[in-house]
Amino acid sequence: MHKNSLLIKPWIPVIDEQQQFKQITLKALLCTEHGYQISLPRDDMVFACIQFIVAIVQVCFTPKNKDDLKAKIKNVLAIEEFDQGIKGKENWFDLDHHETPFMQFRCVKAKEPTALDKLLPGVNDGTNKTFVNPNDLATGLCSSCVAIAIFNFANNSAGVGGGFKNSLRSSIPITMLIKIPNIRKMLWANVLHEESLVKSMPKYKNTLNQKPNYIDNFIKPKEKLYADEIGLARGLLWQPNLFELLPASKIGCCSMCATKDKLYTAFYKEKFNYTIENIWRHPLSPVFSEIKKGKLEEKFPSFNKYNPCWSQLSKFVLKKESDKAGQIPAPVFVQASEELLKAHKIQFIIGGYVNNQATITDRKHETFTLSESLACKDNIQLIDDIIDLGLKFKDALRKSLFLFYKGIKDKIAGTGIDLCNKAEKLYYQQTEQKIHNTLSNITVGDNSLKELSNSLASIVKKIFNQITEPYKEEPKMLKLLAISRRILNKSISELKIGG
Ligand SMILES: [Zn+2]
Repeated sequence: MHKNSLLIKPWIPVIDEQQQFKQITLKALLCTEHGYQISLPRDDMVFACIQFIVAIVQVCFTPKNKDDLKAKIKNVLAIEEFDQGIKGKENWFDLDHHETPFMQFRCVKAKEPTALDKLLPGVNDGTNKTFVNPNDLATGLCSSCVAIAIFNFANNSAGVGGGFKNSLRSSIPITMLIKIPNIRKMLWANVLHEESLVKSMPKYKNTLNQKPNYIDNFIKPKEKLYADEIGLARGLLWQPNLFELLPASKIGCCSMCATKDKLYTAFYKEKFNYTIENIWRHPLSPVFSEIKKGKLEEKFPSFNKYNPCWSQLSKFVLKKESDKAGQIPAPVFVQASEELLKAHKIQFIIGGYVNNQATITDRKHETFTLSESLACKDNIQLIDDIIDLGLKFKDALRKSLFLFYKGIKDKIAGTGIDLCNKAEKLYYQQTEQKIHNTLSNITVGDNSLKELSNSLASIVKKIFNQITEPYKEEPKMLKLLAISRRILNKSISELKIGG
C-alpha cells in the first residue's frame, strides 16, 4: 500500500560518499546520519528538489518550538516519529493516484498533450541563449524528476502564459534557503517551528487541517480567494493550474538523471479562472511593500536582469518600515538569525529565474555568507552600509561617464558616446567578489569598510581609464574627458572612508 507515494518510495536523487548516484527514501534521508548530497544536472533543479523536501518536512513534521527544532537538527528523526508524521498524508504525494494525483487534477480537458519541456524553465523555449541545457533534457522524465519539475513549475516559474495562472507568489519569486553543508541538518534549518509560523501566518492554527488544493479540488470557477485563508500545507503545495500528466508507459533512462524507470513524456493543461486577493506569506520569501495611491501593495521580489543579487541584499535580510515602503525578510532567515545560528556565520542561497513575460531568460543561484558580526541582530544594519557603498561607487562611475556622453548644458557639447551601461556591467563583474568577501569577514569596528572603499575606488578608476582609452587621443573630447575624470575623482574622495 502507498508504494508509489514520495513519502515511501526511493526518489530523492543523491550522491553518496563514494560519489555514486542513487535515489533514496525520505526515511533514509531523515532517519540516518549520512554524507549524501542532492544531485541533479541543473542547479535550479537541485534547489527545487531541496525546496520540495523542505516543504514535505515542514508539512509532515512541523517542530513545536525552538528547542524541538534544535533537537531535530542535532539528532536523526526517530523511525516512530517519521511514521507518525507521514500518517494519512501518503496519498498527497502519489503521482499516479487514480483520483488525486500529486499536484495534478484528473479529467483535465485539452485538445492535445504538451511536451514536458514546458515544465523545465528555460529548456527549449526557442529564444533562450543563456541556458546551457541540451534540448532533449525533458524527452522522458522518471517519476522523481517529473515530481520535482511539477513542484518547481508550480512554485517558482513564470507560468505557461496566455490565461494560465502564476504561482501563489506570482511570477518568478525569489526563494531563500539557509545553507548548511549537511543536507539533513539543512532541511530542518529551513523548516519553521510552530511559534515562528504563528508569527508569520496569523491564521496558521485555524487553517491547520486544510489539505492541498489538488486533494480537495476546492476552487470553483471564477472564485475569489483571500491569501490569508490558505493554510500551510495548501500554500506550500499549491497547484495554480489544471495539469495532468499522461501515464508513464515506456521504460527507459530518464533524460535528466539517467535512472531507469517508466518515463513521463507529456501533460495536459487546461485554463481555469479564479483570483487570489493579497499575498500568501511564504516561509522562504522576503516581502516588499509600497503605499500606492493610499493603498498598501505587497509583493514578492524577483531578480533584475542586469543587477547582481548583492545589490538587493539588504532588502532580503533587513526589516524596514516607513510611511511609504517596507520590507520583511523571509521568515526562515529571521528564525535562523535570531534563534538557530546566533553568533555564527550564516550562509544562505538565493535562487530564482529571470523572465521576459512567459519566457525564462536566465536563472540565478547565489550563495551568501554573513560574518558572525553581521549575523547578530544588533549589527545587521551594517549590511546597508556595505551595499550602499557598493552602489554609490557604481553611481559615481555612471555619473562621470554620463557627463562624457551628454556634456554640460549650454557650455560643452557631449560626445554622444554612451559608455554608462558597459561600465556598470564591468563594475559589477569586478566588484562582486570584494563585496562577498566583506560580507563574510567584516567585524564591527574593523577596517573592512575602509578597505572595501579603497578597492572600489581603484576599480572604478581602472574601469574609467580602460573604457575611455580609445577616446583620449581625440582632441575634441580631451576637455570633456578631463572634466569627467575630475568629477569622478571628486566623487571618489567623498566616498572613500578614512581618506
Ligand atoms: Zn530522473
